[in-house]
Amino acid sequence: MGNINSSVRRKISTVKKRQQTGSGSNKAVSALLIVDVQYDFIDGSLALKNCPSQHQGEHVIPIINRILDDIHFDVVVYTQDWHTHDHISFFENLPLRAHLLAKDSKSIDELKLFDTAVFVFGDDTVDKKLRVEQILWPTHCVQHSHGAELHKDLSIVKTNRSREVFHLLKGYDSDIDSYSAFWDNQKIRETSLNSKLKESNVTHVFIVGIATDVCVYSTALHAVENGYKTYIVEDACRGVDIGNINLRLDELIKRNCIVIQSGDVKTRLEDI
Ligand SMILES: [Zn+2]
Repeated sequence: MGNINSSVRRKISTVKKRQQTGSGSNKAVSALLIVDVQYDFIDGSLALKNCPSQHQGEHVIPIINRILDDIHFDVVVYTQDWHTHDHISFFENLPLRAHLLAKDSKSIDELKLFDTAVFVFGDDTVDKKLRVEQILWPTHCVQHSHGAELHKDLSIVKTNRSREVFHLLKGYDSDIDSYSAFWDNQKIRETSLNSKLKESNVTHVFIVGIATDVCVYSTALHAVENGYKTYIVEDACRGVDIGNINLRLDELIKRNCIVIQSGDVKTRLEDI
């Protein structure tokens, strides 16, 4: 009997300790991912206002700033598209890789801005050839250029006692684009984002920024795949093409991503 009693006491004491320290495995840890709020997507070479959506990218800024002001996140991440001059995603660079166009790709003479080119990397000496489908965008977000900077009106918060902040650059491999903040487009190389979020025990990810149907979508897809409860804050995002935005959001909802509005973020966080 003595043994049973002490065993029960140990269990009760463990439960009490967990309640006191809040160190149970259910503790929610939140991250805000702020995707690519850069000049080139707002008023530069790839401004959304010149895309089919005609969205005004700058409209996300006051909404994101309000979220940062009003709501505590344990982790805040700013991402930036950060391309080399010779990047594969630039239409202007097509001649650099004309010899790599696949047989079933449109030819160099047929391909236009915003078309998809198909490249094949590797030669006969390589067992596995890499087939890369790439939308040809205008030159944008070249490393260290003004267009690649975060917009000056976006609040840049800093790390403090209760919040960790970091900046993540993506798309710096000349031959492989990176829409997602987690992976390159071929899923060959992972960025540091997942390991950093895991280090901070993040459980819930909220995504805002540009562009809804490209980098926000891809980042959300991989956030779900990596096991985070994932929210897209729709009114804090702007995209390239309305039809694609709707398709992508529908797809994400089917994969258990939750689409919310900025006014709902606080309530959602209080409920988790
Ligand atoms: Zn890019």
